[in-house]
Amino acid sequence: MSNSTHAEITFNEFGLPVATHFDDIYFTNENGLAESNYVFIQHNDLLPRWQIPRAVPFVIAETGFGTGLNLLACWQLLLEQAPEDLVLHFISFEKFPLRQQDLAQALTAFPQLATLADELLAVYPPAEPGCHRRYLAGGRVILDLWIGDISDQLPSWLEHAQHSVDAWFLDGFAPDKNPAMWQQHIYDAMATSTAAGGTFATFTAAGDVRRGLQKAGFEVTKDKGFGRKREMLYGQSVTAQTAKPAAADSPVTIIGGGIAAACLAHELQRLGRTIEIISCGVADAASGNSQGAIYPLLHAQRSPLANYFSLAFDYARHFYTQTSAATWHPVGVVQLGYTEARAQRYEKITRSQANGGPGYDSSLVQLYNAEQTQQLWQHLPACPSLYYPNGGWLAPARTVEALLNGYEVTTTAELTSVTKASSGSRWQLEFANGKVLQRSVVILACGAGLRELLQPFSIGLQNVRGQVTEVRATKTSADCPLVVCYKGYFTPVADHKHCVGATYERDGEDLTPRAADQQENLQNLVDNLAPASWPAQLEPVNNRAAVRNTTKDHLPLVGEIDQGLWVLGGLGSRGFTAAPLAANALASALTKRPLPLPAELWQRLQPQRLLHD
Ligand code: SAM
Repeated sequence: MSNSTHAEITFNEFGLPVATHFDDIYFTNENGLAESNYVFIQHNDLLPRWQIPRAVPFVIAETGFGTGLNLLACWQLLLEQAPEDLVLHFISFEKFPLRQQDLAQALTAFPQLATLADELLAVYPPAEPGCHRRYLAGGRVILDLWIGDISDQLPSWLEHAQHSVDAWFLDGFAPDKNPAMWQQHIYDAMATSTAAGGTFATFTAAGDVRRGLQKAGFEVTKDKGFGRKREMLYGQSVTAQTAKPAAADSPVTIIGGGIAAACLAHELQRLGRTIEIISCGVADAASGNSQGAIYPLLHAQRSPLANYFSLAFDYARHFYTQTSAATWHPVGVVQLGYTEARAQRYEKITRSQANGGPGYDSSLVQLYNAEQTQQLWQHLPACPSLYYPNGGWLAPARTVEALLNGYEVTTTAELTSVTKASSGSRWQLEFANGKVLQRSVVILACGAGLRELLQPFSIGLQNVRGQVTEVRATKTSADCPLVVCYKGYFTPVADHKHCVGATYERDGEDLTPRAADQQENLQNLVDNLAPASWPAQLEPVNNRAAVRNTTKDHLPLVGEIDQGLWVLGGLGSRGFTAAPLAANALASALTKRPLPLPAELWQRLQPQRLLHD
């Protein structure tokens, strides 16, 4: 995965953005919106095609997101003139995303789009490589912004996007200024991903572009260009890709009542699937704590684990902001470098690419010195720290309950086995009370229960017991404005209490709280925050133990085990950060829609990686 940097831009005499990197404009000085309408919308015949009823979203893919003007133009047209049930899935590739303030300034050129621009700006992702999925317009517009060089991102996107694109917008800078965006492998990938009847349009009429598209299997036509441009190209795929079969519409049975099940229910419902949820309880296990921290797990190298968590954290924030505003508190997270070794590790994590580091976007993580740490809250120790400005805390139990509100959850005894039914195409589910059900499509999302259930499939998982201690807030502690992480974590006050967590005991299953674990939680807080004295004043008022399900590589377990049998598990201690993206990816794969993840990362999540003899 290549890293990304922001676009360097200036604003010209018309107040319009120019990319200094490429010495080229993002849109014409005359009338960018009219150009977008003429070149891309009209020449892909969007409006007439949108009137034809369809079961799946209309997919547009674009080379070069830039200011998002094409997205906004399509979105506006959708709101004004498309049938109400049409969903637009807009996929765009961008190597140099604009800084948010530059984007805001660039879009002031289009006051008629101001409302939509504000909605886009509010969810605009960090410059982190990979896919950033966003739901706009109440879910009628899905944006997949793939950040990184198109030559790196396209192949891993393509694996799960075959025959899915209805219209291509080729909007890289002019071919002579940016030949990298106009390569044969891009035209070939376009052809493979285009759906039957799919079209393309571009502002350029360059001969190489025309020949490349023809070679890839597009019929290419010239038309008059926009404004002072002489000619442009548009056309359609003649290799007539067969449309993929419509996704089977049998109901999906979700086993579980925690965050994995809640996210799955939500994501499958947006895709129009009928669901059934079966569980022993709601938010009564590892998802049942009263407070939990949300922040990414980052490494000094761009490991698959760090890549997953950087993307999952980004999506989790978006998901909770939209679905759980009442229980999600994006107040920031600080991770203390309370030992020399930790402080050194944090320094490496925040190194720029130029200095051989991973180069994480500053909206994801920043290195703070001792003084800056204490500016976050004066009662923190004077040590360096990692600061996650967009992290925060969530009320897990209340979030899961709210997400599942409105869905019928069938409460039953524990699921004890899953086997192929004798008919062959269904799965037989046997419960501890003797009840037996048969279902065609099943997702196992039942946390700690997965370890036993997946043993017959030779998939190895671990369970880890964790105990959280709740303490009564004091005058000082109640003043803590953000989540504080060290060896454990401490959350800001809620209901006059804080959560202090959590112990980590492999293979522990005992749910009875232990005095020794309470002592460990409180002692870690006192020791790691020394010389601060306020932690020693905190009085425990409650303890809660639960068992989390983990994998040996700490990546979640997401995918199909066998035909019709799926799993979402292994969420470990960071389930509320990991689950929303995992659920979105699983729901996309199950319904054969484009994935919100690079293919190599999706591959890393598959259950088959944990097969043992
Ligand atoms: N569609 C955009 C809009 O509506 O504002 C305008 C796109 S602008 C003409 C071209 C975009 O392609 C720039 O944002 C540029 O950063 C991006 N780009 C250039 N080279 C790229 C590459 N190799 N991979 C991905 N994006 C690239």
